[in-house]
Amino acid sequence: VDIVTRVLRALSEAELGDTWPAEFYEDELKHIISDRGRKILKLAARMVNYAPIPRYLRTFSMMSRDKRWNWISGLNSEGMIYDLINVLEFLMFASYFVKPENYRKIGYDRAPLKPPRGEKVVCSISTSDYSMLRDRYDVIVVGSGAGGAVLAWRLVENGFSVALFEAGSSPREEDLLNMHPVIRALRYYWENGLTFTWGTPVISLPIGRVLGGTVTVNSGTLFRAPKEACSEWRDEVGISIPMDRLEDAYKVVEGKLGVRPVPEDLIGSNGEVMRRGAMELGLSHGSTPRPLGNCLGMGECAFGCPFGGKIDMRLSFLREAMDKGLHLFTKSYVDKILFRGRRAVGVSVDINGVRRRVSAHAVVLAAGALSTPKLLRASGVKNRHLGRHLHIHPAAGVTGIMDYEVLGWRGTMQSYYVDELLDEYRTLLLATFPPPGVGYSAGSIPPNEVMRYRYLASIGVQMSDTGEGEVKEKFNSIASYSIDPEDLEKIKVGIRLSSEILFAAGAVKVYPPLKKNMGVSSMGELNRLLDEAGPRRFKLSAYHPQATARMGGDGEIGVVDVGGEVYGYENLFVADASVIPTSTIVNPQLTINALALLIADNVMDVLGG
Ligand SMILES: Cc1cc2nc3c(=O)[nH]c(=O)nc-3n(C[C@H](O)[C@H](O)[C@H](O)COP(=O)(O)OP(=O)(O)OC[C@H]3O[C@@H](n4cnc5c(N)ncnc54)[C@H](O)[C@@H]3O)c2cc1C
Ligand code: SF4
Repeated sequence: VDIVTRVLRALSEAELGDTWPAEFYEDELKHIISDRGRKILKLAARMVNYAPIPRYLRTFSMMSRDKRWNWISGLNSEGMIYDLINVLEFLMFASYFVKPENYRKIGYDRAPLKPPRGEKVVCSISTSDYSMLRDRYDVIVVGSGAGGAVLAWRLVENGFSVALFEAGSSPREEDLLNMHPVIRALRYYWENGLTFTWGTPVISLPIGRVLGGTVTVNSGTLFRAPKEACSEWRDEVGISIPMDRLEDAYKVVEGKLGVRPVPEDLIGSNGEVMRRGAMELGLSHGSTPRPLGNCLGMGECAFGCPFGGKIDMRLSFLREAMDKGLHLFTKSYVDKILFRGRRAVGVSVDINGVRRRVSAHAVVLAAGALSTPKLLRASGVKNRHLGRHLHIHPAAGVTGIMDYEVLGWRGTMQSYYVDELLDEYRTLLLATFPPPGVGYSAGSIPPNEVMRYRYLASIGVQMSDTGEGEVKEKFNSIASYSIDPEDLEKIKVGIRLSSEILFAAGAVKVYPPLKKNMGVSSMGELNRLLDEAGPRRFKLSAYHPQATARMGGDGEIGVVDVGGEVYGYENLFVADASVIPTSTIVNPQLTINALALLIADNVMDVLGG
């Protein structure tokens, strides 16, 4: 039995008080985890195992259950060992709650709010056979997410020959329907979802590696960027996007995705809790605009929707582009851009294990804000802003234990919002309830409270950051980022308001996103706790990396121009979250989609000219 299994078993004995499915982890789960993920986990398990030796003269796995518990309880929650235990806890809960016999113990049933009716909507698409690959295309697009899918669609609509290479695979219909969300998370995220920023505090930063990009596994909340974002882009980095063109682009995307507010019958009980609290407190609130298809309120949007309830890139732009001749290759990892002088002329790509060089008149990178700068650097592109100015929109989950049964998973996953803090603090509250074993349920609350799952309600706090990080190449980290003190204060404001909402809606206890806390029963207690807490105490996650190859008025301020073309190079473009000039303030997908349309028009102009 390997070290990870030994430590996870010991951890579960100390924290879970139930039999942990070690064989299941060894025989199945372990093999889904990437080599690199396994290396990271082994290192974490070794460090945790040896850490108690100076005090107890025993490794963690050799200690008694009580001693293990005492040791964990006495650990400094701001230290590295505590963070490593959190990572291992994620895996422990994930493997425990995959088993139906375990998740049923807490009353979770994976049942949608509305029963499926009529014919099942097809929710996966077929991709191109590798034999279709040509030596040359008009345009090569790297990445099939929010930016790449829309741009490729626009180009094929206008008669260009396009090859799109996507590192991830296409989710199969039966997997979406039958696999537990935990397994889908492990399969459809880079590094099985174990990606983090390195800094104070360590922040979980998951990104998709799947056909359709992160959109396939996102929560589906679609806001337009507020006007202040565009003013900031103009004032800070000299980027003026004509508002009428941006509005037109938003309209095209919203139309294709069928964006509309979540209807009453899908808001679900977690959204209802937020609405009740917001009304009680007189806050600005509403039901979330989303790309609504055949949504049944299953609450699993962030793991690939099993019902076509969230119209993602696959079910809209990519499907249509395929019909019009797009060559779409999955399991195809681009590792270098090829140049003739300073002109991009193709890519080197590993297609399902076979290395190929493919030529094109133009190359567009849409590999996401973490991969695009790495790929540009690896290809020799130089710009001092490359990889820098990373904004992530730090987020935190606040969990309430209500005095009534909620069944929070039934309903659209992010169905309701409170935007009271948006103007002043750039902070948005969203009613988000994840399945057990992932997200807030795997750590913000102590293990014994997971047993009250049916009574939980939760709110996500998400904040547009002024602080910046940087994408690096180091092993064990994908980006460096430390929370800015002002940003931390904004998160605290969001946590306070979320807690007030939960209390106003009937919470008997609220768990703020702080390591090692026993929950609070009043706002007074919460305020004391937050006043004392330093940045390392916070359990943060983030989902919106952006601005790492930002647009700028010239090559001294940015990496690409307003049309997405890389300064100092020819026929090389970027069309993903990297190009956001500063921050989208709200959830970025819709803005990335819209900018990609505008960049596609510029690519056509450049090639046409
Ligand atoms: C859990 C979660 C919830 C979210 N919820 C929301 C939400 O509700 N609303 C919202 O607006 N945003 C949300 N987001 C963020 C949103 O999905 C992303 O901002 C958006 O998808 C980014 O678009 P992109 O085109 O930059 O990159 P992505 O959509 O990430 O696409 C990049 C693609 O490129 C591929 N790729 C990377 N490197 C290579 C390579 N070298 N070769 C080939 N392919 C490569 C990747 O596999 C990936 O599929 C969420 C994100 C997460 C993780
Ligand atoms: S809530 Fe999400 S996962 Fe469930 S049906 Fe609707 S879109 Fe799909």
